[in-house]
Amino acid sequence: MKLDITFTMIKPDAVAEGNAGAILKMIEAADFKVLALKLTRLTPGQAAKFYEVHKGKPFYESLCEYMSSGKIIAMILSKKDAVKEYRQLIGATDPAKAETGTIRKLYARSIQANAVHGSDSDENAEIEANFFFSSLEYFN
Ligand code: UDP
Ligand code: MG
Repeated sequence: MKLDITFTMIKPDAVAEGNAGAILKMIEAADFKVLALKLTRLTPGQAAKFYEVHKGKPFYESLCEYMSSGKIIAMILSKKDAVKEYRQLIGATDPAKAETGTIRKLYARSIQANAVHGSDSDENAEIEANFFFSSLEYFN
């Protein structure tokens, strides 16, 4: 079954700089519905598990350190074709390459501190949503 959900985090840099409200406003303006939302902080172990697919890449250790360096906002979003639509809204991983008007173009500080996470597939959206929330929380 296609759920039409995606998972996002507003990353530590964006939360610390007070950009969470502006980012949420862009998300809502793009017609995403917020199904679940949580302000929390990842332990280094949780960050390592969440980004396990990147284990072995040169940026992995630094990414895990950064993602556990401060509070993040985890959200489940719904919209038709949520994964694809949200990747368009956030823009390229590297803010220098992100399209004008995207969240990362506006708010990212670097390729690592790039303001937001967005799931890359329906399968991963579900896995990532379940990393932070129980299905009871987001289908109510
Ligand atoms: N990242 C990094 N250096 C890189 C590539 C990625 O620090 O060269 C970080 C960045 O925070 C990125 C995350 O690792 O968002 C996950 O990388 P991915 O390739 O999955 O990018 P995304 O799906 O977030 O656009
Ligand atoms: Mg990714």
